[in-house]
Amino acid sequence: MTHPIAQRTTSEWQQLDAAHHIHPFSDMGALNRLGSRVITRAQGVYLWDSDGNKIIDGMAGLWCVNVGYGRQELADAAYRQMLELPYYNTFFKTTHPPIIELSKLLSEIAPPGFEHFFYCNSGSEGNDTTLRVVYQYWAAMGKPGKKYVISRKNGYHGSTMAGATLGGMDYMHEQMPSKVEHIVHINQPYWFGEGGTLTPEAFGRQCAAELEQKILELGADNVAAFIGEPFQGAGGVIFPPESYWPEIQRICRQYDVLLCADEVIGGFGRTGEWFAHQHFGFEPDTMTLAKGLTSGYIPMGAVAIHKRIAQPLIDCGDFNHGLTYSGHPVAAAVAMANLRILRDGGVVAQVKTDTGPYFQQSLRQALADNPLVGEIAGQGLVAGMQLTADKASRKRFANGGEIGLKCRDYCFKNNLIMRATGDRMLLSPPLVMTRSEIDELVDKAKHCLALTAKDLG
Ligand code: PLP
Repeated sequence: MTHPIAQRTTSEWQQLDAAHHIHPFSDMGALNRLGSRVITRAQGVYLWDSDGNKIIDGMAGLWCVNVGYGRQELADAAYRQMLELPYYNTFFKTTHPPIIELSKLLSEIAPPGFEHFFYCNSGSEGNDTTLRVVYQYWAAMGKPGKKYVISRKNGYHGSTMAGATLGGMDYMHEQMPSKVEHIVHINQPYWFGEGGTLTPEAFGRQCAAELEQKILELGADNVAAFIGEPFQGAGGVIFPPESYWPEIQRICRQYDVLLCADEVIGGFGRTGEWFAHQHFGFEPDTMTLAKGLTSGYIPMGAVAIHKRIAQPLIDCGDFNHGLTYSGHPVAAAVAMANLRILRDGGVVAQVKTDTGPYFQQSLRQALADNPLVGEIAGQGLVAGMQLTADKASRKRFANGGEIGLKCRDYCFKNNLIMRATGDRMLLSPPLVMTRSEIDELVDKAKHCLALTAKDLG
């Protein structure tokens, strides 16, 4: 079989890339001057670039390659499904076996009550869909005035117009001449950065109380939903204080506001639970899913809808929303192969009982003496490390983000993928990472953080 991709030198690829390819979330001018790193293949938890460097992937791609790279089962599932039925739509009273079987499997994996699933191609589309579900639900309940959706500053919900509006990233909002209406933000529950002199518990309650204040300000009859990531991923792996989510849930129930969990990063085992909200002990009405659903092998997103929401939706007639690739058969077949590895291969269970605790403990031990690392937040195989000018006072660096980028450059040179969000370093490796691979990951992270600390004297 001939390979459809031409073989070229690194500089040929870089020149062609600069000539024709606009990258997401990138300063293209700067990128083109430096030349992109060209990733050519991957296996397990490792990537190789076009110069032959072997790189340990501490981010599972973009938080998505949960089963690791090179899984034959997923490739076989895609191949077989492409020959059998490569595409058919699920509009107009039509369906097909892969999407039926995937929905059944998801209903077994999801917490009790999540029996219905709507499919799309990404997390962003999932959050757009969540809004459509929420509005349709309230219309069905005879409360069409419930239109406002409340989300958080520094939350991330994708990059479609609705996803970007829901997110609380100022730098994204600044590039949008208009935003989707009826979306408002409250503060994030980021104690280390914003908790001041409050205890984490008191700060968690204070942040949750902001939701109540916002609902009262808008009028409960006008508020449809609250949406949040159980832990903020792109915002810096921010784990809220334990007091936060129980209060949020209590407030949502008290004011008849739907509670929507964005599980795009947290879903499918990242914290050692199937879904991150289970770690925090709350019960959402909807879950946005993507990334780990197919381990990134093929695009697919979904919204899981609890039966208390799904039934009125089903009973109320046409749901006027859909995408050409809603419930794509090849994506569904790949998702099933992926979920079987995560479940029947014991991967999620292993993160919970073995590799997750081992990773968290190793990271904390390795970085205990680093003068820059002020906080390590995380659970399972995800962690955020705050670099700080003074640990005791939780003081930030004056040039926010510069130290994080410096550290990321060291990671780059040392063949480690670790992400920087401002001065917060993030790790979220494939869930199949073994103990010895975790040792390698943690050693490299320790080395790069030590080099960064040394530069600062
Ligand atoms: N929601 C969360 C929590 C995410 O982290 C992301 C992406 O990182 C999205 C939504 C958007 O997903 P996608 O990039 O697949 O549209």
